[in-house]
Amino acid sequence: MEETWTCPFCNATSVLDDAMMQKDTSELHLENSEGMKELVTVWTVCPYENCRRVSLSCYLYEIILDPSDTGFPKRDRLIRKWNLVPGY
Ligand SMILES: [Zn+2]
Repeated sequence: MEETWTCPFCNATSVLDDAMMQKDTSELHLENSEGMKELVTVWTVCPYENCRRVSLSCYLYEIILDPSDTGFPKRDRLIRKWNLVPGY
């Protein structure tokens, strides 16, 4: 599915692809009273030559373990999203 993206700097829209996006994840493994969580950071670089500005967003997910499946953790509910760069 194609996802369109609007650059917060130049307002140009483009179809999101891997060449302009970098995702990294950090999983919380420490025992706690709230359950497992995952933080996904997403860097996006505007593909237009006259812009090429960098945006940064973070997503915090709840993680569930599905015992009926492979036992691997699965990303579940989105708890929070932060638009860090630019801050708005
Ligand atoms: Zn742009």
